[in-house]
This record gives sequence, structure tokens and C-alpha cells, in this order.
Amino acid sequence: MLKRVIYNCPFVPPEWVAAHGLQPSRIRPEERIDAAPKAGLCSYAHSFLKTALAQKPDAIILSTRCDQMRRLTDSQTDRLAIPVFMFNVPATWQTTDARKLYSSELRRLGRFLEKLGGRSPSKKCLSEEIAKWDHNRKKLCEARRANSASHFSELLESFHRSGGKLPDKLIQKKVSPKGVSLGVIGGPLLAGRENILRVTELAGGQIVFDGTEDSERTLPDMLRAEKLQKSPFEELVHIYFDTIPDVFRRPDTALHEWLRRMITMHKPRGLVLSHFVWCDLWRAQISRMREWSGLPILSIDLSADSGEGAKQRIRTRLEAFLEELA
Ligand code: SF4
Repeated sequence: MLKRVIYNCPFVPPEWVAAHGLQPSRIRPEERIDAAPKAGLCSYAHSFLKTALAQKPDAIILSTRCDQMRRLTDSQTDRLAIPVFMFNVPATWQTTDARKLYSSELRRLGRFLEKLGGRSPSKKCLSEEIAKWDHNRKKLCEARRANSASHFSELLESFHRSGGKLPDKLIQKKVSPKGVSLGVIGGPLLAGRENILRVTELAGGQIVFDGTEDSERTLPDMLRAEKLQKSPFEELVHIYFDTIPDVFRRPDTALHEWLRRMITMHKPRGLVLSHFVWCDLWRAQISRMREWSGLPILSIDLSADSGEGAKQRIRTRLEAFLEELA
């Protein structure tokens, strides 16, 4: 059986892990966790680590995109019995040095995977792995418009968790467009059917695009066949590092351009911005996005989203927001 490596960061290429002969598994934390985080620690970060450990992986990859994840590593990883790799993803992305740093971090990750029992991938093997993931991602994305946002999100979750396997059924349930159109943007999602996308739909919203951290927004760009042939490693760096728009990147222009494109294309009546209480970067976006988009924005803090009462409160706020927009 392949050794399983758990991660949650969109800048970690699963193709790279798979090409080393290990199984990449990107997970979302469970909604319910049995112990509260230490004061000052993000409940998402805490929950991610607990969920990952409960699955008894062979290793975990964390990344430095957020201070809370760094804190988690500093405070916890010495005590863990399994190997943990901290991937340094540079916040700046327009300089040659930043790109070089990302490339060298990928190489360092490769050495970590080899120590774990993986193999050093040949150019051919890496190229085939990258092409396979690209093909499956395209197939998955073709099913986006036929599914509701929450169903498509479940397909993506299953695809990433299983190490790139396409789910048997790509269309879970046909959508009939109804409800007030909304765009959702923000940080990571929790696992399960009751996440913010599902709650928004149940409240009567029609999600016309999903820009949360675990959505299409953070999928790598499409492959360029001739570049892949020339250097699969360089192409891997390109599709991840050069193209994924994210809130931690400096400057964050690509995120705003992505959102502008989505708004122009799908014309939502309002936006829902979901984040955890420690996500300063997302909270700082609310007024900026409201200002340039001219759209009403409902900000939802997911940190308390574990009990029925908390869920009901979120649903009530969403219903009130939708009523205002109707
Ligand atoms: S939810 Fe936000 S604050 Fe928490 S670890 Fe993720 S990015 Fe950081």
C-alpha cells in the first residue's frame, strides 16, 4: 500500500507527491472536534491537525501561508510521532528570487518524500503524472455548471482526498437556477455536507461562483503541452506558483482580478465572505472588496460553526441578507 501524505495547502502540488510514489491526500478538517484549541490558536488550524492525525498518515505537509499554521508547527510538531514538512511558500510572487525559492522548496519536499521511502521521479514519470492530474481536473471542472456549488465542492473534496481519483458520479444532482444569486469568497472550508456553501443554498441563495480556498479558484492553471515536454518541473512550478490567486500573496492583485472576472461573468447580487476569526487577511479584504465591487458583502465568521445553534445563527443572517437583496 502506498504511503499517505496529508496536506491542505493549494500550493502543494499533489502531482509532485504522486510522482515520488506516495499518495497525496488533501483534506478538510472535520466540523466537530473533541477538544478546544489553545487560546490564540485558530480553530481551523487546530482542527486540521487533529483530523489529519486521526487518519494516521505517514507524513503531514503544512505551509507557511498563514502565521497560524506557523504557530501550529512551532507549538505542536516537536511532540508529534510522524514526520512533518513545513513548506515555505513565498508571499511575493513577481520576482525571480521568489520563484526560485518556491522551486527550491519543491526540491526540498522531494528529498523529504524520498527519505520517507519515495523514489526520485524520472522526467517521463513526472510528466505523465502532471498530465494525468491535469486531464482529471479538466474532466472535473466540466461538471461544475451541472452541479450546485455545494455538490461540486464535495466532488473536489473527494478528488483531492483520494489522491486525484475522479468520483464515479460527476453529476450529483442537476441544478435548476433559482434563488438570489450570490458569489462566495473566502478562506478554507470544513468537511461535510453542512459547510457554508450548503447553508447558503439552504437559506435560499444560488451560488453562482465559489471562491473559497478549497474551490476552483485555487486549482492550478491548465498545462502548456510544449512546456511540459521541455521541462515538467518548470511547468509544475508555473501552473502552481505563477497562477493561483490567493489572499496571502503580495501584491494580492491576482485575487482581485479573479473576483472582478467572476463578478462580470456571473453578475451576483451580493457576496458572502467566509473566514475564521484568525484570518486577518480575509477580514481586511471586506471593506476593499465592498468599495471597488459596489456589492453588498456579508461577512461570516466560521469559527463557532460547530453546534446547531451556531449554524442556525449563520442561516438566519444569510436569510436576512438574501431578503435585503431580493
Ligand atoms: S483559517 Fe485562516 S487563520 Fe486559520 S490557519 Fe487557515 S488561513 Fe490561517
